[in-house]
Amino acid sequence: MYSTQPTASHFINGRYVEDISVARFDVIYPASWAVIAQIYAGTDHIIEQALSAAQAAQQDWAARSGTERGRVLRRAADLIRARNRELSVLETHDTGKPLSETLYADATSGADALEYFGGLAGNVTGEHIQLGEDWVYTRREALGICLGIGAWNYPTQIACWKAAPALACGNAMIFKPSETTPLCALKIAEILSEAGLPDGVFNVVQGQGDVGAALLQDPRINKVSLTGSVATGRKVYQSAAADLKQVTLELGGKSPLIIFEDADLDNAVGGAILANFYSSGQICSNGTRVFVHKAIKEAFLDRLSARLDQAVIGDPLDETTNFGPLVSDRQMQIVQGFIAQGISEGARLVCGGQRLERPGYYLAPTVFADVSDEMTIAREEIFGPVLSVLDFEDEADVVARANNTEYGLSAGVFTRDISRAHRVIGKLQAGSCFINSYNDAPVEAPFGGMKLSGIGRENSKNAIEHYSQLKSVYVRMGDVDAPF
Ligand code: NAD
Repeated sequence: MYSTQPTASHFINGRYVEDISVARFDVIYPASWAVIAQIYAGTDHIIEQALSAAQAAQQDWAARSGTERGRVLRRAADLIRARNRELSVLETHDTGKPLSETLYADATSGADALEYFGGLAGNVTGEHIQLGEDWVYTRREALGICLGIGAWNYPTQIACWKAAPALACGNAMIFKPSETTPLCALKIAEILSEAGLPDGVFNVVQGQGDVGAALLQDPRINKVSLTGSVATGRKVYQSAAADLKQVTLELGGKSPLIIFEDADLDNAVGGAILANFYSSGQICSNGTRVFVHKAIKEAFLDRLSARLDQAVIGDPLDETTNFGPLVSDRQMQIVQGFIAQGISEGARLVCGGQRLERPGYYLAPTVFADVSDEMTIAREEIFGPVLSVLDFEDEADVVARANNTEYGLSAGVFTRDISRAHRVIGKLQAGSCFINSYNDAPVEAPFGGMKLSGIGRENSKNAIEHYSQLKSVYVRMGDVDAPF
């Protein structure tokens, strides 16, 4: 029988470890409410074990050649791909996301990151700067021990997106998954170990925010990379400031998607669906403020409603299902609260809005029209399947309204006018943008936010800078000329 209960809660120094001196917490399958695993949060003893293991392992790992480190990561990528189905089934249990998504977007995305950074590892180099006879060379060195803290929407992908560049650069990592989805990162740790990663280089410690905070406070942690909410981002940034630890923050968003009157309507509707309903809307980069030109608004809403009628909502393990439950009761209640607020503030409910009559945290895909900029649903991150349509007529006006948010993670434009597409994207204050598309996240492209949506970038060559530090070395070839 398929078992979702891991061997133990934590993975430290190449093995599963447990400390049962604290209370267990349940892991719930969002599609049925079944308890599918029980996990112990990390204690002081577990935290100390992880820090000591990482410290003992890091320097030897950094001393290996980049090619050698990269080979381990690429081997792990191959193992992940070979076990994609098994890992995707686990991801579906952890998150409730349909298997029709997890087979394509989670373990495979993690494998891409390990393969990409595995390939780059041998290329993490400095430069030579000639200064007459003298010269300077630079070395790109590891930071030491990196702490990764994950959100619950993409547990496998987040673990890999953080581990891959960190390990490629010669760091060790302690990863704390979200307490809502603790299972997948343990499998990544197992696979890295099987691929030949030395014990202690990648460790998983479970627990709530207090465990993340305790790890972060330790002076042996040199860097933290968090994927989570702005509120947590602020706390993490503040705590990291005590020792001036390096920080990468991937936080929330309230991103605009602008659909001009000349857009290909079917593509624009498809883009809006990808921007709002994949993973039941639980994606940080979602384009939840859909600005639609007044001239095409009703046609857009008609097509969107017709397409949403085709959503197959049901058992996430059935591969024909393409829309699953939300991750937890708490998240469902948050989203239901926003829907009620949208209605009470006068937005027009076009479709959805209700909970589905079945076990699990299912909410129907929901569309609001006639949403104004001041409404709560247009200002706050909902993190659920709720799309808001706002009208516009003028390009300059819609750009100003799109930017009128404290967030800056993503933005998208649909138009057939290429000059307008680039002009508008150039003015939007967002880190990850799309033209006639939405939510693509290839490992080759930098990913991250402006404004309150974050600091630093994941993926791409740029991530190397966030997981390494530069040393410059001046070399004098002649005699030293001192004043006395
Ligand atoms: P969250 O902020 O509640 O928790 C994120 C992680 O931080 C969890 O592992 C949690 O245990 C930990 N944590 C909480 N308090 C902490 C503290 N004081 N110190 C250290 N760690 C602490 O977020 P969530 O509810 O898990 O995820 C949803 C949020 O994440 C949304 O805002 C979403 O936009 C954001 N998100 C961002 C991205 C991105 O890449 N930008 C991706 C996914 C999710």
